[in-house]
Formats: sequence, C-alpha cells, structure tokens
Amino acid sequence: MITKSVMITIAGRPNVGKSTLVNALTGEKVAIVSPKPQTTRSRIFAVLNRDDTQFVLLDTPGFHKARTRLGEYMVNVVKESVADVDAVALVVEPVDNIGTQEQLLLEQLNKSGVPAILVINKIDTVKKEELLRIIALYAGAFIFTAIVPISAKKGDGIKDLLHEFQKFAVEGPQLFPDGMVTDQPEKQIVAELVREKLLMCLDREVPHGTAIEVTMFSERDDGIIDLDVTIYCEKQSHKGMIIGKNGEMLKKIGQLARTDIERFMGTKVFLQTWVKVKENWRDSQSAMRNFGFTS
Ligand code: GDP
Ligand code: MG
Repeated sequence: MITKSVMITIAGRPNVGKSTLVNALTGEKVAIVSPKPQTTRSRIFAVLNRDDTQFVLLDTPGFHKARTRLGEYMVNVVKESVADVDAVALVVEPVDNIGTQEQLLLEQLNKSGVPAILVINKIDTVKKEELLRIIALYAGAFIFTAIVPISAKKGDGIKDLLHEFQKFAVEGPQLFPDGMVTDQPEKQIVAELVREKLLMCLDREVPHGTAIEVTMFSERDDGIIDLDVTIYCEKQSHKGMIIGKNGEMLKKIGQLARTDIERFMGTKVFLQTWVKVKENWRDSQSAMRNFGFTS
C-alpha cells in the first residue's frame, strides 16, 4: 500500500540523458528518448510506485514552457496536488567544467532553496579518475544532498538514485491513481474526456460498465489529429443506449468529446467512435491490461 509520496524534478540541459534516466528508473519506455534535444513534451515524466512510495518525476520547469494544452493540463494537475517539489535531481554529463546552462541551474537552485541531488550521467564514457575530478568540481560549487554517478543507458547506479529520492518521501495519500499510464498521456486524456461525456449524457449504470480504448492516435503533417475511440460496454442493451436512436446519442457524445479534445490539443481533431460489447471485461485481467490499467 502506498503511504508516502515524493515529487522530484529532473533538471538538466537537453541531451544529458533525462529521458533515458526516467526510462531506467521505471523500467519502461515512458519518456521519449531522442538524440535530438527538446523532445520531451509534457512536464510529467513518470509516476512510479515502489513498495510504500509513489515517485512522481517531473520535467525541468522553466526550461521550456508547456507547449501544448496537454502540457498545461499536466502542470495544473501537479500544481493542484502539491505546492512544490520535494527535491531536484540535476543531471549533468561527465565533463570537468561546469557549463553555462548548468551554472544557471545552480543559481536557480540556490534561489529556490530546494534540496538537490547531483546526478552525473554517462559514466560509461569516462575513466574513474576523471569522474572523481568532476565530483570534486561540483561538490565545490554547490551543497548537494548527494552526488550519484550513473549510467542511465547501462542501468548503473539507478537503485542508489531511487534510494536518494526515497529519503525525501513524505507521508500522505498517493497523488496519482494506480492505473495511471504515462507512456502516452494524450491517449489517457482523450479516454477521460470521452468517459466524461458518457457520464454527462447517460444514466449512471451504463457509463459505469464501460471502458474506453483509444485505438488510433495519429498526427498528420499539418497537425490535424485522427482518433479512433472504442467504447466497450458490458451488455447489448447498453450498446443500444450509447448509440441511441438513429445513432443520435453517439453522435452527441462524439461531438462534445471532440470539442474538448480540440481545446486540449490545440488543433483540429477527427474523431471516430465505435461501440462494442465485451461482457465482464472488468473481471478479465488481460482485458484490463489492454485498457491501460496496469496496476
Ligand atoms: P534528454 O534530452 O536529457 O532527455 O536526453 P535523452 O535521454 O534523450 O538522451 C540523449 C542522448 O544521450 C541519447 O542518445 C541517449 O542514448 C544518450 N545517453 C543517455 N544516457 C546515457 C548513458 O548513460 N551513457 C551514454 N553513453 N549515453 C547515454
Ligand atoms: Mg528528453
């Protein structure tokens, strides 16, 4: 059972390996890793439950603004949940001078007074003596609560780092539900919005037995997004109610959902909705996983 939570900002200039680190921490592909900088879209990197603790890992704030509506939405979720992060993990490359961007980040850290852990990544590319010099250099520049050398790519030092994060955990309810899927947060939000419209338009009993799956999510070159959404329900009679007379109800749900999705994505959306009957989907483990409930 989760009884503690900790929020960590993963700071660092582009390309130091922040996304790779998050993937190593969670053991899954949750953040986009790219040899090109600035590919991380939203501020939430990942939500990770380990033993009694929920770890919420955030992208560097202030380094790039929330570019999409989704980004803003995520930022608001975070703002509403807690006033501030518990600690910052500053990720740097193993080079023995402190770069301009690192210096700026250190200044920010000084001003904010938030505790900071230094994460020296890519240690697979340097010799030990060199690493020791780098550690000494940073230790002289700022008072870090810990300095953890890692190789995100090889998985070295990851456990130690999690242990350092754990030290900042505070008692309290978990901030995000168990089923939170973070590899494609856009999909999750689309599903949430469709679900919301089902709740708005239908008697409670029907939406309660539904699961929403986003079966297609693709972005055209001009930014228009094509979406296929399947609504699974438990009974044939429910299917009838969701579709409605002459398809009126489904059309209404689709239109309402599309308007909201467009607002979130900041772009035009083509939404196709389907309704299927899947009896007792709630009892089926594999069906649950397909719908993204991965607890
Ligand atoms: P971000 O911009 O900080 O999120 O950086 P990414 O995680 O996208 O990684 C940038 C590049 O550094 C990618 O090509 C990664 O494969 C590479 N990289 C990340 N971690 C390591 C590591 O521990 N060792 C080495 N050699 N390369 C790494
Ligand atoms: Mg990244």
